[in-house]
Amino acid sequence: MNNLKHREGILFVVSAPSGAGKTSLCRELIDSSVDLRQSISFTTREKRGGERDGVDYYFIDTITFQQKIAAGEFAEWAEVHGHLYGTSLQILNAATAQGTDLLLDIDCQGAAQIKSNYQQGVFIFILPPDYAELEKRLRGRGTDDEIVIQHRLENSRQEISQAFWYDYLVVNDDIKSARDKIVAILTAERCRSHRTVYLLDKFTTKGEK
Ligand code: 5GP
Repeated sequence: MNNLKHREGILFVVSAPSGAGKTSLCRELIDSSVDLRQSISFTTREKRGGERDGVDYYFIDTITFQQKIAAGEFAEWAEVHGHLYGTSLQILNAATAQGTDLLLDIDCQGAAQIKSNYQQGVFIFILPPDYAELEKRLRGRGTDDEIVIQHRLENSRQEISQAFWYDYLVVNDDIKSARDKIVAILTAERCRSHRTVYLLDKFTTKGEK
């Protein structure tokens, strides 16, 4: 029996500075059958090689994005690295109503907006082991020039300065152990009494076996 059907879906919001390994970690979580669905965002950025529309993102142009903002279709949206990103309000509301737990891989600006509208959300910040390792990982990609790397490092400092208000801080020193910590967070949050109080019904209803 799937008890998840008896409660609202939980929004698990994950943020991290670029280079902390968040994308791989989120993929690990989705692939490890923990009954979690990825929220697919809308973005105005170009599709990268291998990405698929409707799977990685919904790729839309800036005018369409702005129309969606004006129509109130986003639960949150933000400009990140010069592109617009947003989470559909309708997808979030449908998932929470159906008891589907969602993983939102979004930046700190978006996470703060979700936090003010969905107090029951669970906010997880992924940290690199230290700045030296973060820099090593950013340089290790071998795709960016020095100015881009310095810009990303500066952005990372800004993102990390927001980490204090998240519910959980998880250091990604090893992807499997970071994944296990997040799975432990999911499990504990799903058992929180304010979410599972319905389990008491059969023990308190008179006349029921
Ligand atoms: P990328 O373009 O590399 O996939 O993502 C760039 C950044 O945008 C990442 O930090 C990612 O978490 C963030 N992001 C992706 N989708 C959303 C979204 O819907 N809202 C916000 N606020 N940020 C997002």
